[in-house]
Amino acid sequence: MEILKERIIKDGVAIGTEILKVDSFLNHQIDVVLLSQIGAEFARIFANCGVTKILTIEASGIPIACFAAVHFGNVPVVFAKKAAPSTMTEEFYGAEVKSFTKGTVSVARISKKYLSPEDRVLIVDDFLAHGEAAFGLASLVKQAGAQLVGVGAVIEKQFQGGGKKLTEAGVRVESLAVIKSIKDGNIEFA
Ligand code: 5GP
Repeated sequence: MEILKERIIKDGVAIGTEILKVDSFLNHQIDVVLLSQIGAEFARIFANCGVTKILTIEASGIPIACFAAVHFGNVPVVFAKKAAPSTMTEEFYGAEVKSFTKGTVSVARISKKYLSPEDRVLIVDDFLAHGEAAFGLASLVKQAGAQLVGVGAVIEKQFQGGGKKLTEAGVRVESLAVIKSIKDGNIEFA
């Protein structure tokens, strides 16, 4: 997605060789025009897949999933919670997810009420790095007996291998911007 790559070049900040900071349009301040275009692109790529639900993980995946959902004909968005709130009194599906940026391990949880075997689920997230979040979310889909249509990442850091692992596991992965390397502050796309 050319407009996204241009924005990453313009506003993205490389932190060392592993992390890309895109707080000005995706992770802190949100450019809603760009997000709507991103949502439309996911809808174009995954058209005719019969998506009934979009699944993501809090926090940064939520706006992406919501904008995408509108372009999929207003399907519901379900987001996994990283901590068990006292309001989550019902039964839930859970999967351990290691956070690459925070170095913590949490259990991603969704209530059993919001995914069912009839669902065809698209997972979306802001970044695909080592694939921890995507594999965790895929596990929740599996536990519910639902069908995983694919994983849509806004930015994939190819050099961290998550996309390859998911593809090898039989998951369709579609990333809107794929980064090959980050070196000396330069972002190289695949
Ligand atoms: P993974 O689980 O694939 O290893 O990492 C993806 C998750 O970690 C995403 O949910 C994202 O929030 C976070 N993440 C991974 N790499 C980056 C990065 O370079 N920049 C930012 N802002 N978040 C990242």
